[in-house]
Amino acid sequence: TQLKYKAIARSGVFEEVNEAYSTQVCSCCGAKPDSSPKGRTDLGIRHWICSECGAEHDRDINAAKNILAAGGHPRLDGGILVLQGE
Ligand SMILES: [Zn+2]
Repeated sequence: TQLKYKAIARSGVFEEVNEAYSTQVCSCCGAKPDSSPKGRTDLGIRHWICSECGAEHDRDINAAKNILAAGGHPRLDGGILVLQGE
């Protein structure tokens, strides 16, 4: 609620998305390959390579890209935009 309030107050964008499988899906090709980390047993896997397209992923950055895409944002090649006035 606080995040939504702050985003709207600064003319930002707020969107709730379903984060299911955001760690397992490749943010480059959209596949859920066998090589991606699965469940609690693979929590220690921080880096992985997509067996479908060969992309190398940091677990958290890959998940963040998938969450942004789920919210309707374009894939970010140049990083995350900075809010004006911050
Ligand atoms: Zn891939």
